[in-house]
Amino acid sequence: MSIVRVALDVPLPTLFDYTVAEGIAVGTGQRVIVPFGRRQLVGVVMECVATTDVSPERIKPVTQVLLDSAPLSAGLLDLLRFCSDYYRYPIGQTVLSALPTRLRSDKPIISKPLLSYRLSASGAALDLDSFPKRKVVQRRILAKLAEQPCNLAQLKALSATVGTQLKTLEREGWVESFTGVLLPSAGSGRTANSIQKYAFNNAHTLTSEQQLAVDAITQVNGYACFLLHGITGSGKTEVYVHLMHEVLQHGGQVLLLVPEINLTPQLENYFRNRFPDVNLISLHSGLSEGERLHNWQQAQAGVAQIVLGTRLSVFAELPRLALIIVDEEHDSSFKQQDGLRYSARDVAIFRANQHSVPIVLGSATPSLESYHNAQSGRYQMLTLTGRALVEARLPTVRCININQTVMHHGISENLLREIGLRIERKEQSLLFINRRGYAPVLMCTGCGWLSGCKHCAGKMVLHLKDQRLRCHHCGYQVRVPHACPSCGKAELFPVGSGTQRVESVLQERFPDARILRVDRDSTRNKRAWQTMREQIHANEVDILVGTQMLAKGHDFPALTLVGVLNPDSALYSSDFRAAEKLFAQLVQVAGRAGRADKPGEVIIQTAFPDHPLFRALQTHDFEGWAATQLVERKLAGFPPFVFQAMLRAEGKQENEVYRYLHEAHTAAVTLRHSMKNHAQIEIFGVVPAALPRRANHLRAQLLIQATSRKALQHFLHAWQAPLDALSTQRLRCSLDIDPLEF
Ligand code: ADP
Ligand code: ZN
Ligand code: ZN
Repeated sequence: MSIVRVALDVPLPTLFDYTVAEGIAVGTGQRVIVPFGRRQLVGVVMECVATTDVSPERIKPVTQVLLDSAPLSAGLLDLLRFCSDYYRYPIGQTVLSALPTRLRSDKPIISKPLLSYRLSASGAALDLDSFPKRKVVQRRILAKLAEQPCNLAQLKALSATVGTQLKTLEREGWVESFTGVLLPSAGSGRTANSIQKYAFNNAHTLTSEQQLAVDAITQVNGYACFLLHGITGSGKTEVYVHLMHEVLQHGGQVLLLVPEINLTPQLENYFRNRFPDVNLISLHSGLSEGERLHNWQQAQAGVAQIVLGTRLSVFAELPRLALIIVDEEHDSSFKQQDGLRYSARDVAIFRANQHSVPIVLGSATPSLESYHNAQSGRYQMLTLTGRALVEARLPTVRCININQTVMHHGISENLLREIGLRIERKEQSLLFINRRGYAPVLMCTGCGWLSGCKHCAGKMVLHLKDQRLRCHHCGYQVRVPHACPSCGKAELFPVGSGTQRVESVLQERFPDARILRVDRDSTRNKRAWQTMREQIHANEVDILVGTQMLAKGHDFPALTLVGVLNPDSALYSSDFRAAEKLFAQLVQVAGRAGRADKPGEVIIQTAFPDHPLFRALQTHDFEGWAATQLVERKLAGFPPFVFQAMLRAEGKQENEVYRYLHEAHTAAVTLRHSMKNHAQIEIFGVVPAALPRRANHLRAQLLIQATSRKALQHFLHAWQAPLDALSTQRLRCSLDIDPLEF
C-alpha cells in the first residue's frame, strides 16, 4: 500500500494523506478524487510517500484516480509550491486555482475532438469572384480554407462572427469539418534541435537599436532578465516578433503575457497574421471553460507554439518553454487582487529562472521596481530611443491652466477650439477622463448634502442617462432624488465630470460631430467594443471620450489630438504610487496621438502646469522623471528600496476587525524583538483602509516592511502561526505580499 499527499481546494495550509490500493498506479501531478469530510473533492497528488503520521484507522483511500488528463509536471508543481510559500497562501488553494475550471471539477472531461475545417468538393468549385460581396466573413473563410484546412482558433482571427458563419457554410455544403489536430504545416518531425522555417509576414529590417536588443537576448544561453525600455512606437512589438521567430525555428514555445483581456483578441489577430503557420493559442478569463481547457491542454502537449495570455497564463504548462515576454510590464493588472495575490510578472521571472530561459519585460514606462533592478544590474537594460517609423514624431505636450481660462463643465475653451479645428480637418480627437458616469457626486447647495452610499464610505456616482445614483464600490443604486433627502430643497447639482457629462458638453458644442463614448458602461456588451473599434478605424468617429480603456495599446491612425481632463488628484494622492501610475497612463494615452504620418498634440488641463510630472511629459523624459522619483522613494523609505506585506481585515463589527489587527500587531512586535535581524523589519500601526467601509464591511490594515525580501519572508514565515491562531470565520483576512493597493 502506498500513500499520496494531496493538494485540495480548502483554506488549510497543508496537504492531505490518502492511501492507494495495491495495483493502482498513481504518480505526482495526477488528479484524484478523495473523500473529505462528507464531500468528495478533486485534488492533485503532490507527493508519493511510504509513511504517514495519520493513524491507520483514520486514513482513507483515494476514491478514484482521474486519467482523463495528463499529470502536471514536476516543474509546475515546484512553481506552485514556490507561490504558495512566497505569497503565504494555502498550497491546495494555490494549486487548484492555477488550473482551468474544468480540471477542478470531478466531472469527467469529455474532450470534444478538436474539429478542423476544409472546403468540400462543391466549396472548392465555388467561384469566389461571383460570391456575394456583402457576405464579407463567408468570403474570407472560403478564401482562407482554399489555402489550407484550419481549426476554429485559426479562423477566429478572421472575424468575431466566424462561428455562426461557419455553420451557414456547412449547411450550404461548402465547408466540412473533420476531426484531428492540424499540426502546423512546417511542424512535421519537430524535435528540439531541428531547425524549422516559419514564415513571418511583413518583417521589417530592424533599426540598429532593435537589432542590438534582439542580438543581446538571443545570445543568452539560460536565464537572463531584460528590461526593454522603448518609447511608444519604437518597435518593441517588432523586437518580440523577431525573438519569437528565432525561438520557433528551434522548436521552442513562447509565453507572451499581456495585461488587458480587452486587448487579447486584437493581439491574437496581430500575431496570427505575423505567424500564419504557427499554432497560437490564448489563455484568459474571457474564454469559455471548454476553450480554456482545450487551449491549456494544447500548451501542455507542446502543440501550442505561442501562448498569448493574461496573468493566469503564467501557470500554463509549457514543456518546451524557451522564452517569456511580459508586455507593458508596469501594468497593475498583472497583480491579482484576491485569492492568491500573485504578480504574474514576478512569477514569470521566477519561472524563467526555473526553466533557465530568458525573459523580456517590455514597457515605455517601466515600473520603478524593474527600472531600479535594471539600473543596479540585476536586469539587463535595453533601450529603444527613437520611433521606428521615421515620419512618426512624438506628440507635443502642452498644459492649460484651468484657473486661467474659461471652462465649460470641465472642458476649457482652448481645448474645445482645438477639437473644432480637428473636426474641420477630418481628424480625430480623444478626451481622456478616468471617471465614468455623469458626475462623481450629487450635491445639495442648500445644506451641503452629498450623495454618499449607505453601505460604503464612498460617494454614489450620478448616471444621468438612466437617472440613477450608483455606487461603483458595491453596486448599490437608487433613483436620482428630486429633492434633497436631507433638507428637502430642490437644489441638487452634479459636482465634477465623468465621461457622460463630457459627452453631453461636446454634443451641445458640436451638434454635427460623431461622438463615441468608450467606458465600461458603454462596452458592457461583448461585441460593443469590437464594433466601436471598427468604427474608429473606419474614421466614422470625430471625437472619442473614454477612460483608461482607450489608453492602452490601440492604434488609431486618424487620431491627432488627445485632451487629458482632470489628472490632478493623482498629484496629491496618499498612494505613493499614484504619480508613477499617472505618468505611465499619460504616456500611454499620449502615444495614441500621431502614430501615422500626422503629428499629434496632447493638451493637459491642470491647476499645476509647472508640476515636474507634466514637465517630464513635455520633454519625454522618463529617465529624468524616474531618477527624481527614485530619490524620493529612497528618502521616504518606499519600494523599491523596501519590501512590503499588508495584512488586511474586514468584517461587519468594527471592534472585531480592530481587535484582530491589534493582536496581530502585538504578535508581530513580539516576534520582531525575538529576531536577530530585527533592525531590518519595521511594523506600522493599524490604520483604516483607503475605503474604510465597503458593502457594510469595515476595513483596516497593517503594514510590515523590510529592507530585504529575504528578511521579510523570514519574518512572515514566523508570523504565520500566531496569525492562524487569531483568525476567525467572522472576518475576511488576507496577507498581500508586494501590495500595489493601499
Ligand atoms: P511599440 O510596440 O514599441 O509601441 P510597434 O512595434 O508597434 O511599437 O511599432 C510601431 C510602428 O513601427 C508599427 O507600425 C511597426 O510596424 C513599425 N515598425 C517597427 N519596427 C520597424 C522597423 N524596423 N522598420 C520600419 N517600421 C517599423
Ligand atoms: Zn439639502
Ligand atoms: Zn456602496
